[in-house]
Amino acid sequence: MKGHYFKHMPNIIDKINTLKKAKNAIILAHCYQPVEIDEVADYVGDSLYLSQVASRTDADIIVFAGVYFMAQTAKLLSPDKKVLLPQIEAGCRMADMLSYRQLKEFLAQHPSLPTVCYVNSTAEVKAECDICCTSSNAEKIVKSLGKSKVLFVPDTYLGKWVEKQLGNVEVITYPGFCPTHLQIRPQDIENARKKYPNALVLAHPECHMSVSSIADFVGATSGIMNFVAKSKNKEFIIATEQGVVDRLKRDYPNKTIIPIKNNIICPNMKMTSPEDILHVLETEENEIIVDEEIAKRAVNCLNRMLEVSK
Ligand code: SF4
Repeated sequence: MKGHYFKHMPNIIDKINTLKKAKNAIILAHCYQPVEIDEVADYVGDSLYLSQVASRTDADIIVFAGVYFMAQTAKLLSPDKKVLLPQIEAGCRMADMLSYRQLKEFLAQHPSLPTVCYVNSTAEVKAECDICCTSSNAEKIVKSLGKSKVLFVPDTYLGKWVEKQLGNVEVITYPGFCPTHLQIRPQDIENARKKYPNALVLAHPECHMSVSSIADFVGATSGIMNFVAKSKNKEFIIATEQGVVDRLKRDYPNKTIIPIKNNIICPNMKMTSPEDILHVLETEENEIIVDEEIAKRAVNCLNRMLEVSK
């Protein structure tokens, strides 16, 4: 289905497609992007999927429709490619909660423990951690360490969710969080259930534990999307970012997709427009550069994750 956005700019898709071909470029788009972006994207998905695509592409240019850490991760995994971020101002508020200095202080408080870092973090942070994870594989990654105690940064709620799932690993978390997911409250779930008693509640593990503990299913973006695809149920209450709701509505017109609230939107994810994508493809501005020394260590953290996630 074509988004109404492009009706007003019939040439924009053509221009982007022509440039992609001429420059051997691909466009990766995260599921929280405005849904219209999918019309020009080659790959759409969550962080794990897109990082796997970035690690094996033979394109010369990767345009990453997402936030800064995602484009930076693509650059770490594909150091010989040119990686462009359409909106250079688009950061992740969770990743920004943990600086290199804050990480060092946190590590000093808990010496000699393995550290898992959520992909929503800077390259400087990844460079100091043992292994990376995404919300799709966090449980598997923590388990793979085979330890009874681990550190987890920067998302406290994802870390605590993993601790609860595993049951035999103490997960000591840094107090970072996603301000978008934290807007969802248990009361919102109770209200939505009253209104839609047949609906299943699907929540992202970045939500507060008081929310994830009462959801019917907790999973990453891909997990939520697969759940809807496979479930025989017809109604779903979606407790994550609006982009997931928009894509589910588009892809499953015969199912009822209900957003938990109308304002669960990551403002930075919504900064990208098709014009921005065209602009960076034309000018090759907003290139992501990572310090070589930091990149060398940060990529180990990512590669360990990709190895375990195979
Ligand atoms: S939704 Fe939250 S975790 Fe995801 S990019 Fe936005 S601020 Fe970061």
